[in-house]
Amino acid sequence: MANGYYDTPAPRKGGKRRRNAGNLPKILILICIIAVAVIFCKLIFGRGDKQASADPVQPQQVQEVKKEYNVPPAAEENDLMKIVREEQGSEAKICYLTFDDGPTKDVTPKVLDILKKYDVPATFFCLGKMLDANRDIAERAHSEGHLLANHSYNHDYNKLYATSESFMEEIEKTEGIIKEICGDDVFRLMRFPGGSYNSGDHAAEKQQYKKVLADAGYYYIDWNCLNGDAEASLRDVDSLVAKVKNTATEDNIVVLMHDASAKKTTPDALGQIIEYLKGQGYEFRRLDEVDYYNNDKAAARQKDNSIIL
Ligand SMILES: [Zn+2]
Repeated sequence: MANGYYDTPAPRKGGKRRRNAGNLPKILILICIIAVAVIFCKLIFGRGDKQASADPVQPQQVQEVKKEYNVPPAAEENDLMKIVREEQGSEAKICYLTFDDGPTKDVTPKVLDILKKYDVPATFFCLGKMLDANRDIAERAHSEGHLLANHSYNHDYNKLYATSESFMEEIEKTEGIIKEICGDDVFRLMRFPGGSYNSGDHAAEKQQYKKVLADAGYYYIDWNCLNGDAEASLRDVDSLVAKVKNTATEDNIVVLMHDASAKKTTPDALGQIIEYLKGQGYEFRRLDEVDYYNNDKAAARQKDNSIIL
């Protein structure tokens, strides 16, 4: 009976203990489940943290893509001046400073010093032969944030405009040198020596070559503002500044200047010109920063260019 007694309570007690002992694995299992859940959650949050820490990379990638297609390669419409004008009406007034015929040892470094002082970017329409002669100066211009663009190899009108082959040969040769200096930071943009206008010498050829350029993915651009330093005689600083003041009449201006060796007063006038234009509310940009997609016409162009993008 004792057995029965003990048996009776013992199993009860023992049973209770066993029940307790039976609960213990369940509690352990519950703890394990909670632990696993906590670990799982940590892993999830951990991933979240990793994603969050990876986030700064994502906008950079997006920005790189956006920069790459800021202005798509030229196609049907390759007159960049026209596209610059279509930017009009945006809130900002934009100035694109341009310098033709360099780089030169005498003038380009002085121009670069002034641009650095005022922290403004510019576009240099370089001659291939001058890039060959003064590559270190072109490298300086590029490393200081300026755009190198194409102004033919020799600037010899009769040879350059003789045939579409001679024309494109000079353009491609110069573009090859620009690519060697700038790597991927290239934008197929050229300025016709003498301008692209449909008048004067070689006018008819120039009109044909605009299409040839478009087929090769190049824009061309003239100007709608200038300092007048292309005159044969050396202009003094006051007249260079005055010419810009008189011709800076549009919201978006492409300013023609020269960094050829003979244009010794151009860097001397540049500081005053920049100060005047800043005072007029202009922001300064390189010509590959044209806001290509900023209006209805641009949206239509975007649609047209979607295939080549
Ligand atoms: Zn020129």
